[in-house]
Amino acid sequence: MSRAWLIGAGPGDAELMTVKAMRVLALADVVLVDDLVNPDILDMARADARIVHVGKRGGSPSTPQDEIIAAMLAHLRAGRSVARLKGGDPFVFGRGGEELAALRSAGIEVEVISGVTAGIAAPASLGIPITHRSMAQGAVFVTGHGADGQEPDWRALAATGLTLVVYMGIRRVDDIAAALLQAGMSAQTPCAAIESATLPAQREVLTSLGRLAAQVREAGLGSPAILVIGRVAALARTGEAPTSEKSLTVGLGFRRGVTVDQIEAALCTTLAPSTLADVSCVATLDAKAGEPALVAFCDRHRIPLVTFSAADIRACFDLNPSLPRSSHVHAHLGVDGVCEPCALLAAKNGTLMRKKQALDGVTVAVAGPEKANTRERPHNAHNE
Ligand code: SAH
Repeated sequence: MSRAWLIGAGPGDAELMTVKAMRVLALADVVLVDDLVNPDILDMARADARIVHVGKRGGSPSTPQDEIIAAMLAHLRAGRSVARLKGGDPFVFGRGGEELAALRSAGIEVEVISGVTAGIAAPASLGIPITHRSMAQGAVFVTGHGADGQEPDWRALAATGLTLVVYMGIRRVDDIAAALLQAGMSAQTPCAAIESATLPAQREVLTSLGRLAAQVREAGLGSPAILVIGRVAALARTGEAPTSEKSLTVGLGFRRGVTVDQIEAALCTTLAPSTLADVSCVATLDAKAGEPALVAFCDRHRIPLVTFSAADIRACFDLNPSLPRSSHVHAHLGVDGVCEPCALLAAKNGTLMRKKQALDGVTVAVAGPEKANTRERPHNAHNE
């Protein structure tokens, strides 16, 4: 019996194919290709292999699933080996399960070769890890397509607190964002929309949930695209190159009723000689995140707001026992401090950059990579 393989071609960049996928592709007599597969990858097939496009892009209608299966069976029964090449991973929104079941029930053995899925590779291309020890304990892959009444339960998903990775959702981004906001997700939740990830044409929008739909529309992003919704999206790019632009994180504490201008002044003073342009995100205690001036400040400067729970902050104090503790803050908020732990939690491998400053009811701590600015001596918590 001839051989059949279900192969993941990866998200786009031909170099993200696995070694095994490359080796097997070079063996097949017939290659059935989906439309999201980078055409360069077909150069890895045998020169005399028959290439059959079964995707729906490029003007031609997509081949119905039963016809694809019938074609595979016909080739296999005629003694030809068949590689079924799918974008990303064949078992992630790829209908690979259906094809595998059909071939198996026809008595054909199929080898499945996993691929790098777009839901991991697209965020990774910007330095966004979909899970993160202090930000997201897991991630959910979900379709945003909503076809056949199969609308995901956005309310339940919002309640998980996990990173949401949405496939096939870009055309419905308005509905998806509205549903998540209605479910109580914060408008400040960091988001990324990434089109044609890992390809030269890649484009992205980094924003907050409240602005996601408008920004996607403004940028004209379309399919194929991945939406990443959750705190990890604030790590875009900073995770990749911590000493480049936007390498600083700001931890903020403030009095109720402060103004946007007060927040701005306190930040600018503390940051100098760095500026707001060097800030990747502003972080605070989740109980304080709804303060209108803070929301307006982050919107004005397009700086993502990251929030941490009291438990996150306590864990940070446990890891950094020398951080200064304030009994005053403890009495009000039930944690020993807000600025320094939030700045540290939001930073990747960061250290505190200087002494915390308090100005007009706003307290600011700044963290960054150790050598981000040689004019600033890393702050030593013992001296405070
Ligand atoms: N099996 C594929 C997913 C197929 S569903 C995988 O594992 O990646 C098709 C959806 O995948 C697209 O609508 C889009 O949401 C996503 N996708 C695939 N390739 C992509 C890319 N290069 N950039 C962004 N999204 C991509």
